Amino acid sequence: MRHQYVLLAAALAALPAVAAEPGAARRQAQIDQIVKEISPARIEATIRKLVSFRTRHTMSDTVSETEGIGAARRWIKAELERCGAGTPLQVSFDSHVAPVSARISRPTEIVNVVATLPGSQPASVDRMYVVSGHYDSRNTDVMDAVGDAPGANDDASGTAAVMEMACVMAKYKFDATLVFMTVAAEEQGLLGAAHWAEQAKQKNWNIAGMFTNDIIGSSRDEHGRKDDTQVRLFAEGLPVQKENSETVRTLIQTGGENDSLSRQLARAVKEAGERYVPKFKVNIIQRRDRYLRGGDHMPFLERGYAALRFTEPAEDFNHQHQNIRTENGVLIGDLPQYNDYDYIAKVARVNAAALSSLALAPAAPQKVQVRTAKLQNDTELVWQANSEPDLAGYRIVWRDTTAADWQHARFVGKVTEFTMPLSKDNVYFGVQAVDVDGNVSPASYPAPLR
Ligand SMILES: [Zn+2]
Repeated sequence: MRHQYVLLAAALAALPAVAAEPGAARRQAQIDQIVKEISPARIEATIRKLVSFRTRHTMSDTVSETEGIGAARRWIKAELERCGAGTPLQVSFDSHVAPVSARISRPTEIVNVVATLPGSQPASVDRMYVVSGHYDSRNTDVMDAVGDAPGANDDASGTAAVMEMACVMAKYKFDATLVFMTVAAEEQGLLGAAHWAEQAKQKNWNIAGMFTNDIIGSSRDEHGRKDDTQVRLFAEGLPVQKENSETVRTLIQTGGENDSLSRQLARAVKEAGERYVPKFKVNIIQRRDRYLRGGDHMPFLERGYAALRFTEPAEDFNHQHQNIRTENGVLIGDLPQYNDYDYIAKVARVNAAALSSLALAPAAPQKVQVRTAKLQNDTELVWQANSEPDLAGYRIVWRDTTAADWQHARFVGKVTEFTMPLSKDNVYFGVQAVDVDGNVSPASYPAPLR
């Protein structure tokens, strides 16, 4: 490869000059401010309040004002309305009745609490980014709707992070629309998230990315070892489908297994997260989820959207999905004293930085293609023009075929095609859109143009 880069440098030097790149590595003051405002103390208070409802099991009491899932969701909605007052944040319930199924013993109303912050740029308002946590909880028996199920980590941690982001970010403006969602019935089969994702699909909504935060509460594993320096970001490659879509077939044909929409989104999240939250690693795990486990990103993946899962680095299984009890002198159960509130705030900051960066940036370029008619060692990339008024131009990024992340970038200005003096067969290319402030979109993978 080194030889090829020497040739590239010479060839690039001969290319016509383009306008200067608008500082794509620069930190945005607005994002720094948002990251700073995220408060571990408020996150802790939210989690302790959620735990106070005793159980948030999906089939638990909905009448009481102090116990059960009904009281919990009314409190979440009231909190979001309170902190969103005077901002454009729109808070509502998204409700449906789930019929009897494997984990639902009687028809049950499933209610998501959804807070939408509409984008302020007409060209971007239809582009949405969704961030979620699930507020329902469970204990050892997933059908036990009355026993204590504090769910302090699984998933009051994700719920509190999402509420904190909504409250902080509602005061700021973004080009694209942000949806802060706390969902129900994750433990009963991802029912709340699936209902919302299905409506989005039916309405043909442009969800450019979705993150679920599920079990982001603790920095300690079951041996007591602490690691508060990273978070796992699960990112699917190719989806498991009976019949592969055209997009998936193209990825397979061209070796693009590591360039699915979710992987491109994960690279963008890592870039933004690590830029704004120093000394904290976004550890991309190239998997849909942990072995045989799942989460609320899956209903989005199954509908063709890019979706990711944030989870703490090493889970302590004594403190999730377990009745509260003492065994051999060890207190078991998902209790608030096992959370690390500074750690949760770091994960919330990574989410907020990534969401802000994505919602300030232009959309990822569409219809990116590589011309294949001529057999040649240069690469001719073409794409459709973006429509945002603050677009500065495009960046071509590339990496070795064995590399996980982009290694090189070149700003090429406001054009819709560019020839790179490098072979499409020897590296992976992506095209990104950049705005005048230096906000960069995720990369788009070029399909072959025959
Ligand atoms: Zn969970």
